[in-house]
Amino acid sequence: MKRANTFEVIPQSDEDEELLRRLLDASAALWNEINYERRENYADPDGDVWDITEYRGRYGGVLGASTVQQIERKNREAWKSFFSLKKKGEANGKPGFWGNADEGRELRTYIRNTSYSVEWGEYSRLEILVGQDLKDEYGLGHRERLRLEVRGDPNWKEYEKQGRLELFYDEQAQTFRAFQPVTVDDSRLAQPLASEEAALDIGANNLVACTTTTGQQYLYEGRDLFKRFRETTREIARLQSLLEDGRYSSHRIRRLYDRRTKRRDHAQDALARDLIKRLYDEGVSTVYVGALTDVLDTHWSVETNAKTHNFWAFRAFVKRLACTAEEYGISVEVRSEAWTSQGCPNCGSTEDTTRHRDTLTCPCGFEGHADLVASETFLRRQTTVTRSMARPVCLKWDNHEWLESSRSPRPNEEHTNPQVASVGR
Ligand SMILES: [Zn+2]
Repeated sequence: MKRANTFEVIPQSDEDEELLRRLLDASAALWNEINYERRENYADPDGDVWDITEYRGRYGGVLGASTVQQIERKNREAWKSFFSLKKKGEANGKPGFWGNADEGRELRTYIRNTSYSVEWGEYSRLEILVGQDLKDEYGLGHRERLRLEVRGDPNWKEYEKQGRLELFYDEQAQTFRAFQPVTVDDSRLAQPLASEEAALDIGANNLVACTTTTGQQYLYEGRDLFKRFRETTREIARLQSLLEDGRYSSHRIRRLYDRRTKRRDHAQDALARDLIKRLYDEGVSTVYVGALTDVLDTHWSVETNAKTHNFWAFRAFVKRLACTAEEYGISVEVRSEAWTSQGCPNCGSTEDTTRHRDTLTCPCGFEGHADLVASETFLRRQTTVTRSMARPVCLKWDNHEWLESSRSPRPNEEHTNPQVASVGR
């Protein structure tokens, strides 16, 4: 399983700091040179973006051959991702430069996994490879590495493998920082506390409705998020209609797309984490997710369904959920069987129920929150629920985190007997 550590890096002397700065500055200079060459090749109809000069000769003495190679690789990755986004029509401009020589370069480098080591302990430290020229100049031994102090308490001090280290100067915090990807042994992850189960109903107005076999229900409200998403979408369409013939995008349109995506991803990430933590505390070990195409209400228009699908980026969300769940030893199972969220959990009728906004009512007397009912019905189809439902927890996004709102929907009453609820399902 892939995880990452971030920590602060502190040079032990002015000399060490100068050395480190020179290393990062030379890396940025190298990046900019490579990137400039690629941009030139890209603009040249006969040029080949992948065909670039050999840089090891000029930069190897300062950076060391392996770091030269890492910077080249990182730049190649940036261009590959540019081309793949361009193919999808989502490209946000060619890979950029790390500052410039006049106004200052962004101090940053990438160090190969075998060219550094971190030791955790009372005096944690990081040792990185530097080029022979710098070693000579600063009096480091032939096989010596630059030793730096590490501050911080990363999550993953024991790991199977470490990845390429990113080392950079954080201008705002005025400190050096490192980002270390690691592969963690699965057995180090949390184990579920019990073998309870949960089912999720996914929508747009209510992003997630969830029911657990312990009788808990959670509702993540998405109305405001969805509304903002639609507004941005409308604004993008308006700007697109104003474009000159032959143009498909503009800087503003790309920025709007970008912001829209970031907002959604942020809310989704936070939702996945908030929900999985709650489920872990409830002793849940398996989460069932209905495939979105089947979950959507049949009375919704095709257009609404498409928008919801677009908004949620369903696959990406399930992946996110599964990734977070993995940390807690919880498994996520996608069930694609067709089912309707309109069934009455009390009498099983699917014909006579009516939905008005979020409320589902049935002639048998049942009344409840439609999406919570849907998740509960879904759960009962996967497993046996023997407990009655507690008052649902309602959560609202405040653009930063999901907060419990005081205004909770009414719990679904009148179906505390699971035998009754599973009739005809
Ligand atoms: Zn009914």
